[in-house]
Amino acid sequence: MPPSVLRCGTLFDGTGADPVVGGLLVVDDGRIVAAGPPAATPVPPGARVVDLSGRFVMPGLVDAHSHISIVPARGDQIGQLRRSPVPQALQATANLRRDLAAGTTTMRVMAEEHFLDVEVREAIEAGVVPGPRLLCATRGITASNGHGRALSSFDGVDAVRRGVRENFARGADHVKLFATGGVSSAATTLHASGYSREEIRAAVEEAERVGKYAAAHAHGGPGLRLAVEEGVSTIEHGALATDADVELMIARQAWLVCTFAILFHPDGIERGDAARPAIMEKVRWARGVVAANFPRLLASGVRFAVGTDSMHGCMAFELETLVRFGVAPRAALLAATRRGAEACRVDREVGTLEPGKRADLIAVDGDPLRDITAMRRVVFVMKDGVVQDGAAERSEP
Ligand SMILES: [Zn+2]
Repeated sequence: MPPSVLRCGTLFDGTGADPVVGGLLVVDDGRIVAAGPPAATPVPPGARVVDLSGRFVMPGLVDAHSHISIVPARGDQIGQLRRSPVPQALQATANLRRDLAAGTTTMRVMAEEHFLDVEVREAIEAGVVPGPRLLCATRGITASNGHGRALSSFDGVDAVRRGVRENFARGADHVKLFATGGVSSAATTLHASGYSREEIRAAVEEAERVGKYAAAHAHGGPGLRLAVEEGVSTIEHGALATDADVELMIARQAWLVCTFAILFHPDGIERGDAARPAIMEKVRWARGVVAANFPRLLASGVRFAVGTDSMHGCMAFELETLVRFGVAPRAALLAATRRGAEACRVDREVGTLEPGKRADLIAVDGDPLRDITAMRRVVFVMKDGVVQDGAAERSEP
């Protein structure tokens, strides 16, 4: 394929630099070779022109926390993970198509059974089905009585070690462990620690020894603190995180991965589990705590990224919520691009539009720096230099 030149209405490269009005992007062989104002961006002869001149062009979105097979509005998320692989895989292809069309070009998968995420990743890479590039946790590491337990569980240091090693052997990119209870399970509490310090340490050690890292589902209390103290890199959700917890996270350079849609969106846990009072009570309570605390936590200096947690296609909702909680639109866009890539340790490949990076980018109708709801209108998606199905724009011959 010849190189392409993308004529942008506004080019937001995700580095933190000011947006460039009328900027150009040159893409060749799946990668970005140049980006910037026309005067400083040479266009190779014979380049195919893609006209995005009315659009806001930015890096593809990094959804830092999701699950490919779950639809929260159906309720009983754990029951969904217990189904056999075929219905889960079929659901995953529909979910991922939606994510991709809404601008997610990289997704970190935070636990699936059956090694489903690895299988689907291979299908995407082989061109069998469309989807974001997937970073896979494979099986969640959780205790027998832990949140997130579907088919697999791991009790004791040796079982945790074996579970983590087996996950890596099957193609996992990182470890997802469940350090506290969760909102969408009836019998767990958000404060209690499911794992001992030694079990958490074993998971972190096993990951780090092979150059990877551990992420922990942790809402607050001793489970969150143990996870941060033992070197977990990303804290997922953190709904009950206190100022002291966040101070410790800053000191240990741990990331906070915010997941707002699952809690606040009407199609989240609210729709799926409306008939289960024990869950709905937790939803209402967690909403109050998050709305009261997150404006302060997000302003504390802790590094944060965002994830939809299976709310497929809802990255715009995550960003709108960040802005509602006082985050500047520019910082919100960075949370979903560069910061997300850093949190997921793929920032050498994606997250910004700079020469050498993969050509993962989107175009939006409107200016999300002025009105973040423009992120609902993703009209063009390119991944690895290839325009994805469903894009509203057409390239010129
Ligand atoms: Zn999750």
